[in-house]
Amino acid sequence: MIQKTGKINLPEGKKIALTLTFDFDSASVWMESFGKSSPIYVSRGEYGAVVGVPRILDLLHKYNLKTTFFIPGHTADTYPEVCKEIVARGHEVGHHGYVHEDPTDLTLEVEDAILQRGFETLDKIGVKPIGYRSPGFDFSPNTLMLLEKYGIKYDSSLMGNDFYPYCPAPCHVNFDKGNTFDKPSSLVEMPCSWFLDDWPHAEFVMTRAGMKPQSEIYEIWKTTFDYGIKNMPNSLLNVALHPQVSGRAHMITMLEEFINHALENDAWIAPFEEILERVEF
Ligand SMILES: [Zn+2]
Repeated sequence: MIQKTGKINLPEGKKIALTLTFDFDSASVWMESFGKSSPIYVSRGEYGAVVGVPRILDLLHKYNLKTTFFIPGHTADTYPEVCKEIVARGHEVGHHGYVHEDPTDLTLEVEDAILQRGFETLDKIGVKPIGYRSPGFDFSPNTLMLLEKYGIKYDSSLMGNDFYPYCPAPCHVNFDKGNTFDKPSSLVEMPCSWFLDDWPHAEFVMTRAGMKPQSEIYEIWKTTFDYGIKNMPNSLLNVALHPQVSGRAHMITMLEEFINHALENDAWIAPFEEILERVEF
């Protein structure tokens, strides 16, 4: 059996669920995922903590919205007050590794230790996460089992659907015959897409593109949203953002425009923990 696909039991009058999630990586993404820990890269992470997060919190407050922040333990240890403010404003916090480690090639022992360290660090800012997002949007062969072991209720990293949550089925990859699947997990996947992530579109990384005008990004997101409203009943659209990217003036202006478009079209904008309660199979 492959994935078990679910749908959202939307609140009365709502036409689609929308999550505007923020991965508050600060410097950890540069340090671990890009191998960059020089002052300028660390300062780009600092921008997210000092400028991006407050600007985003103000925008969410303006529209009375709650959302989900995925926070690496390293960010919580570096900027505890910023993280506590996110919690104090009523937003959900999910697990996002310790120093933004991509789990793909980690041994079971190392991945387990990193997960534990993430839980311990989030506990210091008063958070017991029920959700996880993989730094790097990828799993090792052990990730799903480890998340189940620690009682994680949902993940938001995999890409096996676009408008519907699902229970992922672990896949045995074969090159000499077709792949086979175990039975689906009880954990709920809130699927992601690089198209609905601000980073590859808008963040400048040496040798890679990523400085699109925000109007082009808006067009992708609006077209996807409008398609969902028209064609995908009881669905969920999941947008993944980063304070150091979407905190920028041009991006947050576009984000506000997108929020307005979504609200005018009866979107239910909510954190994953609330959406999870309305997932039906
Ligand atoms: Zn991240």
